[in-house]
Amino acid sequence: MATIFEKIINKEIPSEILYEDDLVIAIKDKFPKAPIHLLIISKKVIPSFQKIEKEDLPIIGRMIEIAQKLAKDFKIEKGYRLLTNVGAPSGQTIFHLHFHLLGGRDLLEMG
Ligand code: AMP
Repeated sequence: MATIFEKIINKEIPSEILYEDDLVIAIKDKFPKAPIHLLIISKKVIPSFQKIEKEDLPIIGRMIEIAQKLAKDFKIEKGYRLLTNVGAPSGQTIFHLHFHLLGGRDLLEMG
C-alpha cells in the first residue's frame, strides 16, 4: 500500500512543496514540532535509513545538498537538527525515507 509520501510525490494529496527534482522532494511537515519543520523525502521508496543500499547513495547525497540549501533558505544554517527515525521503536510512522530538518528556536529545549 502506498504511503502518504508516495501520494504526495504523485500529487494525489496536497502538500506545501518547497523543492522538487528527479530524486527528492522537500515539503513542510503538516504537524510541525518546531517553528521550522521541513521534510526531505527520497522519491524512491526506501523504507528507512537502515535499508539504504550502495546504489542509493546519489539520492542521499542529493538529500544532504537540499537540507543544506533549505537551511540557508530558511536562515537557520547556523543551528538546526537533521534527523531520521529508523523503525517504529524510534517513532518512525511513515516507512519511506525522509529527513526532518528542524530549527527556528532553541533546540536544546526539545531534548
Ligand atoms: P516519522 O514519524 O519520522 O515517520 O515522520 C513522519 C512525519 O510526517 C511526521 O513529522 C508527520 O507530522 C509528517 N506528516 C504526516 N502526514 C503528513 C502530510 N500529509 N504532509 C506533511 N507531513 C506529514
